[in-house]
Amino acid sequence: MQIKILGCSGGIGAELRTTSMLVDDDILLDAGTGVGDLSMDELLMIDHVFITHSHLDHIAFIPFLLDTVMGFRVKPITVHATKETLATLRAHIFNWKVWPDFNAIPDAAAPFLHYNEVRLGETLDLDGRKFTALPVSHIVPAVGYCLEGDQYSLVYTGDTTVCDALWVEVNKINNLKYLIIETAFSNRELELAQLSKHLCPSMLTTELAKLDSDKLIQRVEVFITHLKPGEGEIIMHEIAVMNLTLAIDKLKKNQTFHL
Ligand SMILES: [Zn+2]
Ligand SMILES: [Zn+2]
Repeated sequence: MQIKILGCSGGIGAELRTTSMLVDDDILLDAGTGVGDLSMDELLMIDHVFITHSHLDHIAFIPFLLDTVMGFRVKPITVHATKETLATLRAHIFNWKVWPDFNAIPDAAAPFLHYNEVRLGETLDLDGRKFTALPVSHIVPAVGYCLEGDQYSLVYTGDTTVCDALWVEVNKINNLKYLIIETAFSNRELELAQLSKHLCPSMLTTELAKLDSDKLIQRVEVFITHLKPGEGEIIMHEIAVMNLTLAIDKLKKNQTFHL
């Protein structure tokens, strides 16, 4: 199981892309603007899109993906998300006003867009690639995901603020190798981070302290995502001076992980 980072920024501009990851060649995890860098051949191979939550920086390119590949594919595309997120997509995106309802095209009996409801704690196994939704806390209903391959697991938090329930689940994952966690704001924007339910470095430190000590012995590698454009350096500096015992690095576009 390979995961390639298509976008990991909190915004856009020049080389920056918003959150999306390509799992092998047929699954997207979030569908931000990074999806737009895929070739037509690569876009045609996408069968599944897992979504953490309904915010635009994570879903913006689902509509374009569907519109681009429809007519060239026989199989539908399945969007996996929680009941709340699917309801938001139906009501506010695929509503014929913002974009066509691909869940009714070409007809409701065999639509091009399938919806699959994701429930916390349930594991979906796609040919040995396991996806399990994890609890997080954000300003809208949101989940993170644990991805499990043959050897290792990777946890991607999506957007979250302080959330004890997340760490209860993360600490149960025996073969955890990679943790991708957001830190959207710098410490001087602590209030904004709290208000918008994101993390800043001081809050990240509190959260990482909830990792069981065996995860430190396992040398779990931590990658920071969703940095606000223009604040990336200061956020990473603020994290570095915390002198955490974990290996922490900035997540990079085109970086790959193998599980
Ligand atoms: Zn969000
Ligand atoms: Zn976001």
